[in-house]
Amino acid sequence: MPVKQLRIAMVSAHSCPIGNLGAKDTGGMSVYVRELAHELGKQGHLVDVYTRAHDPKDRQTYELGQNARLIHLEAGEVEDIQKLIVYSYLPDFAYNLENFRKHNDLQYDLIFSHYWLSGLVGEYLQQRWNVPHITMFHTLGAVKNTIGIGEDEPGLRIETERGLTQNCHHIIAPTEKEKEELILHYSALPGRIGVVPCGVNLEQFKPVSKESARQYLGFGNDKIILFVGRIDPLKGIDKLIKAMPYLQNIQGLRLMVIGGGEHSQREIERLQKLACNLNIQDSVTFPGLIKHEQLPYFYSAADACVIPSYYESFGMVALESLACGTPVVATDVGNLKSVIRQGETGYVITDNAPHHLADKITLLLSRLSTDTESVLSIRASVSRFSWSNIAEAIIRECQLVLANYLAPVS
Ligand code: UDP
Repeated sequence: MPVKQLRIAMVSAHSCPIGNLGAKDTGGMSVYVRELAHELGKQGHLVDVYTRAHDPKDRQTYELGQNARLIHLEAGEVEDIQKLIVYSYLPDFAYNLENFRKHNDLQYDLIFSHYWLSGLVGEYLQQRWNVPHITMFHTLGAVKNTIGIGEDEPGLRIETERGLTQNCHHIIAPTEKEKEELILHYSALPGRIGVVPCGVNLEQFKPVSKESARQYLGFGNDKIILFVGRIDPLKGIDKLIKAMPYLQNIQGLRLMVIGGGEHSQREIERLQKLACNLNIQDSVTFPGLIKHEQLPYFYSAADACVIPSYYESFGMVALESLACGTPVVATDVGNLKSVIRQGETGYVITDNAPHHLADKITLLLSRLSTDTESVLSIRASVSRFSWSNIAEAIIRECQLVLANYLAPVS
């Protein structure tokens, strides 16, 4: 049966989907919004993604692909500002969004908001437009505070997430775990939560031969362990650095920590100091932010990718690495237990204790096979996470929500 074309207003107020990935507030969510919008457009839906203008060089409108646009709206200074300051400009953002919509004579079938700040905008628009509001939190403040690593999330965030859970029409959770957390911490109604995993761009993330990738990047024959992500205490990078001394018997081993940006400098310095104290500073490098388009070379050049996080809503980096044929060692966070095949495409461990990480990295490197067949079989293990599959699943959720919303009350 042909799928009815939907007109979707996506809101990603604080984090620009075309911003610098791997910087403090720009990571998996930006990739998610950009890729999903692009794919939904490709499948014939009309998608407008609204975000806050943060760079004077930004144009107001960008094409994200067929039928999909990104629209920058003014709200506060046109520069990077802290999330809680963005909060105070949300009324301006919502007002400018509504003006843009009216001025351009746009109508939407539903709103899909991302993160609690955008959830508030979605709630406001929902009341004016009388269309359903679907939200996705990407991380939950209450869970972050339970873990207790890094800065505490403010009560404002927790209360907003709780309120949104009750008031929105539907929630997309990327994992069953997040669904349970929404029920546990915010008393969410199970029937209002749809579980749809995150995706990976399989055209972009594909294997390059290890030799060519290393040659392209100017790497030698070292064994390379890769970390990719925002430089945030919740990512457990310190535990991975502390795992390095346990791996000293592996000749020429190097850890590469990718991610950064100016707001991450202090955390990078803390990690560099830790490496110095452990006397492994020559084996740990911090190349900074790497463009998403360049990452397939890094994943392909690496022998293993490690995700030592305390918390991930999903963990998209694992999908990217596996799509490039590189195995992953990860803590049991997000959806990684169902993404990684134990002993086949990597290992999932119960916690990020340095000796646990080191044990599994050693095992992985000793069993590593770089033949084409193994690389392709690692890649095949994530083919179900193509954005086309994910977009279709999101549209099924939207249609269910719309059917319930439009159904006459008996
Ligand atoms: N990323 C990037 N360049 C970097 C660091 C990270 O493009 O220097 C991307 C990475 O490829 C991934 C995203 O940022 O797509 C991080 O997503 P993930 O879900 O792993 O973490 P989150 O940011 O949601 O905590």
